[in-house]
Amino acid sequence: MKVWFLGTGTSQGIPVIGSSHPVCLSNDHKDKRLRVSVWIHWDNYSYVIDCGPDFRQQMLVSKCPQVDGILFTHEHADHTAGLDDIRPFFFKQGDIPIYANKRVIENLKRRFDYIFEQENKYPGAPSVHVKEVKSNQPFTIGNKIVQPFVALHGSLEVMGYRIDDFAYLTDVKTIADEEIAKLKGVKVMVVSALRVEPHPTHFNLEEALDFIKIVQPERAYLTHISQHMGFHEEVQKQLPENVFLAYDNLEITI
Ligand SMILES: [Zn+2]
Repeated sequence: MKVWFLGTGTSQGIPVIGSSHPVCLSNDHKDKRLRVSVWIHWDNYSYVIDCGPDFRQQMLVSKCPQVDGILFTHEHADHTAGLDDIRPFFFKQGDIPIYANKRVIENLKRRFDYIFEQENKYPGAPSVHVKEVKSNQPFTIGNKIVQPFVALHGSLEVMGYRIDDFAYLTDVKTIADEEIAKLKGVKVMVVSALRVEPHPTHFNLEEALDFIKIVQPERAYLTHISQHMGFHEEVQKQLPENVFLAYDNLEITI
């Protein structure tokens, strides 16, 4: 299984529009971060986690040929605002399966009402096939089982996903012990780490590293990174040897 980091930035992306922060002015491609998402593919299967406002650009850059489904972590715009751009995949493939909890589905129905419209639908609008995810119910994508788990983003419940030895969790501030237990034995984990300073709804770097110590994956990748984390190259040097700052268009093999 391969995991392509389509975007590794926080909600505004890096560079932030109009910002003169040194990281926003960096010429290192690893300091340029689109909104957070991954493309997971194996055999002939191809799925993405989240579908933010940079989805179109990410699909073009990665040359992702098909989307067999989208797994949503939560409804915030940096994770969902690109949903309209599934249209090219819909035209080729038909209704695109989306996996999300009930609250996220209801939110998407309000914000993208035309996508869910059943009558007098505009012919160019895409359609989705809704698959409701419940935290204690594993489900199948392609020929693999997905174990969903929950964490809290402030007071908002977000969904993380484990597929075989790989786990993905973003926008987390706290996670219950029984949910951490679902990560036992995971080999590669992606987890969000916003910046060095604490934040009310996100792990900072220290919290993410503490969490990695508890889960003990062989390798961990940090994502959802803000410019306040610092320059990629400098931050990477300070990390434990099995922890990596993810960067856009990094592809890893699980
Ligand atoms: Zn986010």
